[in-house]
Amino acid sequence: MKEKKSNNIYCIFCGRSEDQVPLMINSELGLQGVCIDCANALNDIAKEQKFKKNQKEIDDYKLKTPAEIKAYLDQYVIDQDDAKRVLSVAVYNHYKRLKYYHSDNAKTDDTEIEKSNIIMVGQTGTGKTLLAKTIARLLDVPFCIADATVLTEAGYVGEDVETILTRLLQAADYNVEKACRGIVFIDEIDKIARKSDNPSITRDVSGEGVQQALLKLLEGTIVNVPPQGGRKHPDQKYIQVDTKNILFIASGAFNSLEKKIAARFNSNAIGYSASDQRKKIDEKDLMKYVQPQDLKSFGLIPELIGRFPVLTHLDALDKTALKRILTEPKNSLIKQYTKLLEIDGVKLSFKEDALDYFVEIAEKYKLGARGLRGIVESVMMELMFELPGGKTKEFTITKKYAQTQIEKHQEIL
Ligand code: ADP
Repeated sequence: MKEKKSNNIYCIFCGRSEDQVPLMINSELGLQGVCIDCANALNDIAKEQKFKKNQKEIDDYKLKTPAEIKAYLDQYVIDQDDAKRVLSVAVYNHYKRLKYYHSDNAKTDDTEIEKSNIIMVGQTGTGKTLLAKTIARLLDVPFCIADATVLTEAGYVGEDVETILTRLLQAADYNVEKACRGIVFIDEIDKIARKSDNPSITRDVSGEGVQQALLKLLEGTIVNVPPQGGRKHPDQKYIQVDTKNILFIASGAFNSLEKKIAARFNSNAIGYSASDQRKKIDEKDLMKYVQPQDLKSFGLIPELIGRFPVLTHLDALDKTALKRILTEPKNSLIKQYTKLLEIDGVKLSFKEDALDYFVEIAEKYKLGARGLRGIVESVMMELMFELPGGKTKEFTITKKYAQTQIEKHQEIL
């Protein structure tokens, strides 16, 4: 090595001086810098370590069996067994695929296991989002919820479909490899159904156009994603995301889908077995008979339906289910309010007839499970104001008390 000149800058990694390297990056440390060769080598090392870390994360996944996933969902979501089973299997398979393709066995195996995106149908307030959020808590892959209603065809007011992946990137702290094995929940997919049966009648910017754009994402390609979301524009830098291993779960209320299902049954029932088939059909809950062709009649295009090979439904919630929702989940409303007052040193309890009354109000005003919180909140309001710091250390909510409070808060109904 040359003798160091007193005013020359040296690379702190290889020791070469400024005049021996193509470029020296100066530092704040007087005569010490980093040469461009070492900077490039460091960049490669950083990339390799990030890759190894991602690899290790996948190897370390402790696969939870479908039964374990379902048991977790059971703690928070009441009923909906079909949807829970389907989701548990899909999520388990998703992990299993990822792990397998990182293993050495996969290198010599040419059987390609394809992912199975899921579509869930069920009335609003039956637990579709709750299921998704609960799964998200259990998972250690990036997860995001995207709302299909804000999406429009490129070039129109609204968001491009690629912004769905922006959310996933954000959930993965912009670690692209991690995002590429994430799960995306697309809510309100029914809102992008084709508005008319005749596709060419008018421009349908928030319907069929969006479905077409979504296809690209679902089928597994490399998509240019705007890192900050919003509209794509030519000067923006994009992040490339491969959607091949991203699991998509879509959900929607599909209001009046029952009519399409009933119509299908009616047209099928013309044959000789009509009376037999009728008997078996549960006319009150037709949603459980949903088939892909019903989604097509509703206005989803066949190509899109084909990208969601798993179709499941959520049941309408009856009185018994609503009552269980009040008390059973790990974070049920009753448990939450009891805890809130326990912190103030007050023992709160609810009589059975009060619980039945909450359910009755929710049913009467068609508020469903979502309305239960508002009902309980308005019954609790006065108590939550008066009890803290007072002399009362125990309080029981009866139907009579609940009724008086609800009458005072008619505005919630
Ligand atoms: P949607 O089907 O419209 O996505 P949500 O999952 O958002 O409905 O449900 C709204 C609220 O109602 C949830 O936050 C939860 O408190 C309650 N809820 C609905 N369904 C259930 C259920 N099956 N079990 C427990 N709580 C439920």
